[in-house]
Formats: sequence, structure tokens, C-alpha cells
Amino acid sequence: MKHSTKTILFVVILVTLFLCPVQEETFAARRRKSSKRSLQSYLQQYSVVQKKLTDKLDQMIVTPEYESIQDDLKQWKKSYQLASHQIAKIPVKAQPAIESSLPEAEIRAQNELRRVLRKHAIEIYKISQRLIKAGHPSYAYFLVREVIRYDSDNKSARRLLGYVRKGDSWVTPYAAQMYRNNYVWHKQFGWLKKSRVAQYEKGQRYYRGRWMSVAKETAARQDFRHAWQIRTDHYLVKTNHSLEKGVEIATKLEEFYQHFFQVFIGFFNSPEQMAKLFDKGSRSRSGRLKNLYEVHYYRTRDEYNRKLIHKISRINITDGLYFTTDRTAYFYHDPKQDKTHTLYHEATHQLLYESIKQERRVAYTRDFWLLEGIACYMESFQKKDGEISLGNPEYNRFREAGYRFLVNRYYIPLEKLSAIPSEDYKSHPEIRKNYSQSAGLVKFFMEYKDGLYRDALIQHLSNIYKGEGAGRIRYPTLAELIGVKYQILDRQYGEFILKEEADLIKGMVEVDPDE
Ligand SMILES: [Zn+2]
Repeated sequence: MKHSTKTILFVVILVTLFLCPVQEETFAARRRKSSKRSLQSYLQQYSVVQKKLTDKLDQMIVTPEYESIQDDLKQWKKSYQLASHQIAKIPVKAQPAIESSLPEAEIRAQNELRRVLRKHAIEIYKISQRLIKAGHPSYAYFLVREVIRYDSDNKSARRLLGYVRKGDSWVTPYAAQMYRNNYVWHKQFGWLKKSRVAQYEKGQRYYRGRWMSVAKETAARQDFRHAWQIRTDHYLVKTNHSLEKGVEIATKLEEFYQHFFQVFIGFFNSPEQMAKLFDKGSRSRSGRLKNLYEVHYYRTRDEYNRKLIHKISRINITDGLYFTTDRTAYFYHDPKQDKTHTLYHEATHQLLYESIKQERRVAYTRDFWLLEGIACYMESFQKKDGEISLGNPEYNRFREAGYRFLVNRYYIPLEKLSAIPSEDYKSHPEIRKNYSQSAGLVKFFMEYKDGLYRDALIQHLSNIYKGEGAGRIRYPTLAELIGVKYQILDRQYGEFILKEEADLIKGMVEVDPDE
């Protein structure tokens, strides 16, 4: 299908964009040119180091000495090639020892391959450190993850990303602490005392110092004050639905979190945000809970409405909410519909807003469309058969954007849209149409011409999230950042949406008018 080749592959594309001098010009922001030039030189160093590795692997492949590890060599070469269009996964396992039962020649060959990869990892690590010193944390972050890909046990890189060794695995500090306290992670029940696992699996539950049935515990936790609390590395999920549901939600959010930081690496560029990027935020022992992202998940829509109506009068039209004032995301269980996309929508609002501790007004006077657009875009995050995809053109919001634009001819030009203040956007009579247009626009800025405008968009988002208010210098418009006029961007969007969505909206009947 079309979208499988469309899996979005941010990280390395960002890097290659900076290596391309033609596109560099379009990224306006000329005053930052000198720093960009230095970034470019570091990334050149990176590509030289990468080339050295491919040459070395090629050479090993044709050397008889390495005959016995041909498959491994080819695998590494393939994985290097794949790296330019895949989101890198961090391996959990430490490197296993080379099997001593293997023929001596093979052991020697394996050792040599490991030595080559280790050396390669160290070289990348050195570049990442130079990048940090030069003030490019986001690219440093990308490279530190690369280090681990080549040498799962590189201690410096692991330490930077907040991992600690536990037996044959690398785990987060929180997981290490839980293991030390004799807890284990259970797919259904989350962190659980090892000694209680068997009874939980038999349907028993431990609550308030004694064992009871599932039904009894469920009844006791109906009142949200006694809700289950599911703690993971970065989240605290409270729910009165069920322990299992809470664990499912927390697991999805953690997964989303891991990829979120790769997509938005360019967003985290202040020292505070950088600390977050390198996962220092969740490490401090004091006030640990404060650093967690809090999520409340209600058992029914009715209860969600009742509990939140004092915060927002039109609660019944919402599917989920994120409140900046109490820094909590709210959801409810819908037995008829999978609402995972809403989870990612609100999680996006939460992760972006909470990148800075300070309370502030964000996009109050302008650019509010982007806050909703980016959240709608991230709704399309999907994990299917182990593959992660983002921006699938078949996703509802994008098809709707196509339908509105191509069939209804509904479109607010960018310049006008950008000038709409948050309150007007939220109470706009065509709010639903504007949401889908915003989603379509973000898709355009993220993906047009292999991500030509992506860095500028993320820079813009980063400026917006620093907040409006006293002392804040007026930040540039998106058109200024890109260096292309709004009217031209409008036209390019039209071409983009036609190419992306025209086939997908064929035969589509009128989209639900503003529900
Ligand atoms: Zn939203």
C-alpha cells in the first residue's frame, strides 16, 4: 500500500537536509547561518566516518578470513543503508558473549567485527560531544542514539541517555530501582512485586494490605480518589476503569514518547529542554513525581463530563483534554470506539507544553492553528506489526483535509489562518474544517519535498512554545523562517494535497458536517 513506503523517516532526513547546500538556502534565518555552517561541518565529519565503516565492511566481505561471518557483515551493511530512512531503535539487550563453541577462526572474525563497530561507535560519540559543545543538542542526541546502535554497551552513550546496566539488559533508572525492590514488569499488570505475580495471574488482587477478588478491588476503586495509579518511566496514569487498561494506556504513551523525541529533536533547544531530551528530567530523586506526565482516564464518558464541566463548559464535544493549568491530560473509556488517536493528540499537547516548567501563554495572539495541527498530525502515529508509521495519507484527518480543499473548496489562506488568536480559533463556526485543514498543513510542512520545510516548522513550533508575554522578543512568522511567501506556500499546499489525497477521496461521501 501507498502508506507503507510513506513511513516517516525523520531523523536522518534532517541530517541529510543539512548536508544539501541547495536546500540550505531555502531555510532563511540567514543570521543563524554561521552556526549552521558549523553544524554542517560536524555532519560532514559524520558522513566521512560512516563512509569509512562501509568501506571497511566491503573490504571484510571480500576477505576470505571473514568468510564465516558473511551474513553478519552483510546484515550490518544493510542496516547501515536502512539507517537513512528508519527511526533508530535502541536495543535493550547488552551484547551477548561470543559463543565459545564456535570454530576458532569464526571467533576471531567475530571479535574483529565487534572491534570495528566499537571503534566506529567511539568516533560517532566524539562527534556528538563536539555537537553538544557547539550548541546543537538535538543532532548530538541523534548521534548518541546511533552510537548505541553500533555498540549496545557503549557506557558513555548509555549514561547520557539515562540507561543503567541490569544483568544482560540496559534499563532506565526507574526500572533499575524497581528491579532492586523486587518488582517485575508485567505486560498486563505493570510493575508488580515478584512474589505477587502468580496470584495476580490467578485473578487475585492485593489492595489496602489484603488479598481480594478482581470484582472487589474494582468496586473499591470506582471512586476516582482511589483510582489505580500506574507508574512508568515518564508517565503516571490514574484510572478507575481497570488496572489492565491503565497499563495498556501507559504502555502506549511510553512508546509514543520514545518516538516523539526523535521526531521533534529540533524542538528541544534550550538548556532545560535539552535536559529533557537526554532524559535527565525523570532522573532526579527529589520531587520525582512532579516530573511525570500525569494522565487521568475515566471509566465512562459520563463521569468524564461531570468531573470536567467546571473546567470547560463544552466538555461534551471533546474526546480528550489537556489542561495547561494542572498539567494533566484527561480521557475516558469508550467501549464502542478505539480512541488511541485522541491519546496521541493530547499527549502531543502535553509533551510540547511541559518541555518548559514555567507557566506561560502559548499561541494566544497568533499561530494557534499549528498547536492543533501538530496534535492532529501526531494522531496518525501507528505501530503495526512492529513498524512505526506517521502521516499515513489514509488517516481520517488528512482525507478530510483533501476533501475540504478539493471538493468543498474550503481553505483559509495561511496568512489569515496564522493571524487567528486562540480564542477565535476555538470558537470558530467551522472549527472542524479548520482542524482538518491544520492537520493537512502540518503534513505538508513536515513532508513536502522530503521534508524541505520540516526544520523550519519545528523551529517555529519551538519559538511558539517558549510563550508569549513580557520580555519575549517577537518571533518570526513561518513564512519568514522558511523564506517563502505565504501565497506561494498556499499554492504548494494545494499541489501537495492534490497529489497526496486526490485518489483517496474518490468515492468519499460528504464528510460529517461539523459534528
Ligand atoms: Zn487539541
